[in-house]
Amino acid sequence: MPAEPVDLRSDTVTQPTPEMRRAMAEAVVGDDGYGEDPTVIELEETYAARVGKPAALFVPSGTMANQIALRVLAPPGSGVVAGAHQHVVAYEHGAAARNAAVQLVPVDDARGALSPAAVRAAVEAGRYHAAEVALVCVEDTHMAAGGVPWALDDLRAVAEAAGALPVHLDGARLFNAEVATGVKADERAGLATTVVSCLSKGLCAPVGSVLAGPADVIGAARFERKRLGGAMRQAGVLAAAGLVALRTMVDRLADDHERARRLADAVTERWPDARAGLAAAATNMVVFRPPDPDGLLAHLRAHGVLAGTVGPGLVRFATHHDVDDAGIERALAAVGSAP
Ligand SMILES: *Cc1c(COP(=O)(O)O)cnc(C)c1O
Repeated sequence: MPAEPVDLRSDTVTQPTPEMRRAMAEAVVGDDGYGEDPTVIELEETYAARVGKPAALFVPSGTMANQIALRVLAPPGSGVVAGAHQHVVAYEHGAAARNAAVQLVPVDDARGALSPAAVRAAVEAGRYHAAEVALVCVEDTHMAAGGVPWALDDLRAVAEAAGALPVHLDGARLFNAEVATGVKADERAGLATTVVSCLSKGLCAPVGSVLAGPADVIGAARFERKRLGGAMRQAGVLAAAGLVALRTMVDRLADDHERARRLADAVTERWPDARAGLAAAATNMVVFRPPDPDGLLAHLRAHGVLAGTVGPGLVRFATHHDVDDAGIERALAAVGSAP
C-alpha cells in the first residue's frame, strides 16, 4: 500500500488528537445561546486569560472573528487600514465589503509588518476626502509573507501610529509567534484592542476560533455573531477540543518551526533566488517563488507530497502536527529531485 501523502498544503488539515476526541466525547455541555455551556465558558475564559483580555467569544472560524471585529469596531462607510496581503483583505472573498460595508485601505505588507509611517499616512488621508479611518488591522504571524512573527517594537510602533483608533490583531497563528520569539501572546495582544486566534490550525482542534477584547466590545461581538448565524448551541463539544489545543498543543509548535526551517534551507539550496525579497522562514511556513510553480506542484504530488499556492507563482509549505520527520525527509527528497 502506498504511504499516505505528506500534506503540506496547510496546517488546517490537522486531525483532532485522541485526547481531543476523548474530551469532546466527555464534554459537559449546555445551550450556549442561553450562556449555559460550561465548556464554552471555560474556553472563553481560558483564552481571555492567555491573551490578557477581560472577555472572549468562541466563534466558528477565524474569518467570522475578523468580520465580527470589523462590524463592531468600524462603522459602515468607514476606512479600515490593513496590510494588502492580510487574510481580512485578500483571503475572505470580499467579506469586509459584503458583511461590514467598510472600505479597506491596504498598505504594503510584503515582509509582514506594516510601516507606521504608511499607517499614519492612510489615517491622515481620511481627514481629507478618503473614507474616515476607524480601525487598523494587523496580522501576526503574517501568513502570506511566510508566517512572519512581528517584532514587538514594530507592533508597538503601529499601535502608536493608530493613535486613538482601535487595533484588531488577526492572531490566527499568534501562538506560533509566541513560540518562535518567546514574546508572550499577551504582550502582543496588549498592543491591540481585539485579538483572534484559530484553534483549528496548528493547534489541531477540529473547529473554531476565539475573539478576545474589552467586555463591551465582546458583548457587542456576541450580537454580531448571532447576526452572522454563528451562534451555536451545545458548542462545548467543540470547545472541549479547543481547551486541549490551548493547554497542550502550543509548546510543540516549535517542532513545526524546526521542520519548516529544514524545508526552507532545501528550497534555497535548490533555487537560490526563490525566496529573494521574501521574509526568512521563522515559524511553520515556507513561501517561495520556484521557476515553474505548476510543474513543481505536479512533481511533488507524483512523489506523495502535497503543497499549494497562496498567490500567483507563490508556493507554500505549511508544517504541522500531522507531518513528522519521516514526512519531512520525503518532502526534502522531492524538492531535491524537482526539475
Ligand atoms: C486561516 C486564517 C484566518 C481565518 O480562519 P478560518 O478559520 O479559516 O476562517 C484568518 N486569518 C489568518 C491569518 C489565517 O491564516
